[in-house]
Amino acid sequence: MAEKLIILGGGESGIGAAILAVKEGFDVFLSDAGSISNQIKTELIKLGIHFEERGHDMERILQASLVMKSPGIPDHTDLMQQVRSSGIKVVSEIEFASQFTSATLIGITGSNGKTTTTLLTHHLLKESGINAGIAGNIGYSFARQVAESDRDVYVLEISSFQLDDIHKFKPEVAVITNITPDHLDRYENDISKYVASKLRIIENQTFNQFLVFNSEDPVLVEALNGVNTSVSKIPFGFQQPTNEGTYTSGDHIIIQRDKSNTMIQTNQFQLKGRHNLLNAMAAVSVAQLFEVSKDSIRESLTSFRGLPHRLEHFLKIQNVNYINDSKATNVNATHYALDSVRSQVVWIAGGVDKGNDYSALLPLVREKVKAIVCLGVDNAKLLEVFSPVVEIIIETQSVDEAVKIAHKIAHKKETVLLSPACASFDLFKNYEDRGNQFKKAVRNL
Ligand code: ADP
Repeated sequence: MAEKLIILGGGESGIGAAILAVKEGFDVFLSDAGSISNQIKTELIKLGIHFEERGHDMERILQASLVMKSPGIPDHTDLMQQVRSSGIKVVSEIEFASQFTSATLIGITGSNGKTTTTLLTHHLLKESGINAGIAGNIGYSFARQVAESDRDVYVLEISSFQLDDIHKFKPEVAVITNITPDHLDRYENDISKYVASKLRIIENQTFNQFLVFNSEDPVLVEALNGVNTSVSKIPFGFQQPTNEGTYTSGDHIIIQRDKSNTMIQTNQFQLKGRHNLLNAMAAVSVAQLFEVSKDSIRESLTSFRGLPHRLEHFLKIQNVNYINDSKATNVNATHYALDSVRSQVVWIAGGVDKGNDYSALLPLVREKVKAIVCLGVDNAKLLEVFSPVVEIIIETQSVDEAVKIAHKIAHKKETVLLSPACASFDLFKNYEDRGNQFKKAVRNL
């Protein structure tokens, strides 16, 4: 008899897993507490997969021998509590999909820079002629791609929630960009749980696999020191490493290896900010492991364009620079944004606070921020932390109002920066919606 698989969550990872599971001969049922989009329903019906929405048939779910849980479902829900206590094996979508492919896997995780590093790594490999696909949190799910296409290599963007339910997942190369507090609401406000979850990316790796990691991130380095692993470590950072590693000197990235050093010019690299150099060092380190030539890496770094909503310098009006960094949903991302701006800043911040500690921003805010325009339902914490250091703090409830006020306050050669340090779900659908509305409001000025 076919193995009974229950898929919890009817989003992209759910439908991807469903497609793959049917192909692999599972008996599949998909269940979602909310409503499932028409597009996904049509796909499910076409495949003959049974599903339910707006509620869970627990009796049916508890008969499963395997559960694939969407990364969006937190463990504290009644549903997950029941599934966990029943002892049914729970897997994440990357765990499930990785069992059905023999492609080489590159897994990229971290608090910030995952998407940028994943796209850049994929670009470096693809441009060099490698048949590489991209999946994970980006675009189509990994499972769908394993079912529908045939790649030699996958570059996977992996969130900590995807890592929470792995068992055998073992990437050839793991990348950890950094670890700073984020999503603590999903980890009982305990950073050590969040760190442990990120480090699971290496738990099945052995000496002939690689970990590319930011060696100047104190939280990450300390956490790695506490782990017993035989994985081959490749550090990257701004300082020259004692042994092997990747670092920068002037406008070059230098790959320092046992046998020889490779120098790659970065003066044509389009992405701004020191954090993007870190992302580039990570991606270049992976490309080097895949023996991509120095010339190919240099050309691909030059041709890579940044992404919308990430430090996106999109318009200059009356010599005021407008930057959309709507994707900055935590304090560390905003730290890099403020750090990368060279002028005085009118900073638009706020949204859903995920347990933020803003104190790390105080020195930069003192130095550069002339005014804060709060854009969120509850701005109490921003007001409390920053009113002693910033003279002008104004609360707003709409993006149009925020942009108009910021426009009035900003003078020539200054910057208006949307870098919320918070999630967007109070006033917007998601960070893209927030960024798009911001850009539209600026264009309407
Ligand atoms: P993620 O996929 O991890 O959310 P993104 O590449 O989408 O990462 O970038 C998210 C935010 O973090 C953006 O505001 C971006 O400017 C900032 N950022 C990108 N790379 C880094 C990094 N290495 N360190 C800190 N912040 C970063």
